[in-house]
Amino acid sequence: MPALLTRVLDRLMLQGTVTEAEPVAARMRRLRVEGPALARLDPRPGQQVRVLVEGTLTRRTYSVWRYDPAGAVELCVLDHEGAGPGARWGRSVRTGDTVRFGGPEGSFVLRPDAPHHVFAGDETASVAFGSMLAALPASADVSGCLETRTPEDRLPLPHADRLGWTLRGAGSLADAVRGLNPPPGGVAYVAGEARTVQSVKRILVQESGWDRRTVVTKPFWTPGKRGLE
Ligand SMILES: Cc1cc2nc3c(=O)[nH]c(=O)nc-3n(C[C@H](O)[C@H](O)[C@H](O)COP(=O)(O)OP(=O)(O)OC[C@H]3O[C@@H](n4cnc5c(N)ncnc54)[C@H](O)[C@@H]3O)c2cc1C
Repeated sequence: MPALLTRVLDRLMLQGTVTEAEPVAARMRRLRVEGPALARLDPRPGQQVRVLVEGTLTRRTYSVWRYDPAGAVELCVLDHEGAGPGARWGRSVRTGDTVRFGGPEGSFVLRPDAPHHVFAGDETASVAFGSMLAALPASADVSGCLETRTPEDRLPLPHADRLGWTLRGAGSLADAVRGLNPPPGGVAYVAGEARTVQSVKRILVQESGWDRRTVVTKPFWTPGKRGLE
């Protein structure tokens, strides 16, 4: 990369070095990125960063899995079958590599004061859910449904014993949420594949009687489209 471009990127973006890169589930790699610029970022649980994954133009969005105020951001990247630039980067990045990304952003965040919290989504959504669940006390009222391709694709989530797990193909996430039929009055967080997100929201609002303002949604990906954000 030309020196001038490097200097421009250094001014515009955060930068760190990959210090850990290891499997955290069958198709998911956890990447720990450390650097002085990453201290005191203060991401809200559920927020994401936009990572430069290829050259200087291609960015992909990843939720913050864990944050260490001493100066480390952890991401988990799914190696999906579509294998675009994001998945290729997540699969190939090594310890010692430099990573550039923008600051934490986004409104898909935990509402900590809600009387109960319902989580529904897929493998990619589980990453954001991980940081949201970690921010809730043991006494929090938590429920939800998570869909993965195989049991080995499940991320180790806090409060996991209170979440329902379903396998893709053995039913749908929408049906699992219909079966859960959570009572309204809390906040529901729904993320992952775009059409599934809409179906789950419809079920919560139309069948379970939730106020749509209490169903927080975020499409993370959709078949045939590249880098939703
Ligand atoms: C707010 C937000 C947070 C996100 N957080 C995470 C995260 O923490 N971890 C993570 O892995 N991803 C996350 N994503 C998704 C991520 O940004 C990329 O979209 C994803 O990595 C795919 O990028 P890609 O370059 O590999 O494929 P793209 O070039 O974007 O897409 C190529 C094709 O691959 C297919 N595809 C894309 N994603 C999937 C998938 N999950 N399963 C099956 N097929 C797929 C689609 O058909 C798509 O057309 C998040 C997205 C958003 C918007």
